[in-house]
Amino acid sequence: DRFAALGLAPELLAAVRDLGFTEPTAVQQRAIPLALEPHAEGFNDLMVSSQTGSGKTAAFLLPVLHTLIGMQAEEAAREKAAWDAKVAAALAAGEPAPKKPRRRSPLDARKFKPAVPGALVLCPTRELAQQVAADAIDLVKHCRGVRIATIVGGMPYQLQIAKLQNANLVVATPGRLLDLAGSGQIKLDQVRFLVMDEADRMLDLGFADALAEVHQLTSQRQQTMMFSATFAPRIQQLALRVMHDGGSKVQ
Ligand code: AMP
Repeated sequence: DRFAALGLAPELLAAVRDLGFTEPTAVQQRAIPLALEPHAEGFNDLMVSSQTGSGKTAAFLLPVLHTLIGMQAEEAAREKAAWDAKVAAALAAGEPAPKKPRRRSPLDARKFKPAVPGALVLCPTRELAQQVAADAIDLVKHCRGVRIATIVGGMPYQLQIAKLQNANLVVATPGRLLDLAGSGQIKLDQVRFLVMDEADRMLDLGFADALAEVHQLTSQRQQTMMFSATFAPRIQQLALRVMHDGGSKVQ
């Protein structure tokens, strides 16, 4: 199985199987191993030329989700160890076992916390962002604790903000994302993975400054992937600006 050979988490392989994907597409075959290769920060940045219909969405979602799953598992193990230690300490002291804190509804505005995603995918349009988020939701159906949120213009703020809390992966259009970042509803300083999907269309739509701003707000990230239909000069310039050495080219 060529998907399994890519080294992806079993939860993702199960989702890929459910979707009926039997073989990785050409862009998946080339980009996924490069994206997953362990490297020093910035050295696995990718500049991928890809057309719609090539399977490009899964080419960036699978490696990003794979790493998020790993991070999530580590965090869950840390939380469990801390909880077990707390219970053991209470029992050793002859106290009753502590009660698990009750989970609050995300709609509970009294305890608002900003979203702090580990991964961010930028898309040129609302329709594409919604499609990418839908694909991500399909791919995490067997994963526990990886949550996807969408931030796009033309949707009620309140609903998006409620869904944003606890999101690990945010799929966004640049303008609305910066609105929410500006008002403190989303913090971008824990973003480790930044994907710019259809970067050429984002430039066409006048998002160059917004992309530069997101680049600065996520300066601590460890990996950037740009997907574009072409390697036109203006795309190369953007790549040089936001990626280490302009990223490894994948064609
Ligand atoms: P995209 O280029 O990301 O818009 O994907 C185009 C279509 O190909 C989508 O409907 C995907 O669900 C589908 N797709 C993605 N990867 C594969 C694969 N490995 N095998 C079959 N179909 C796929």
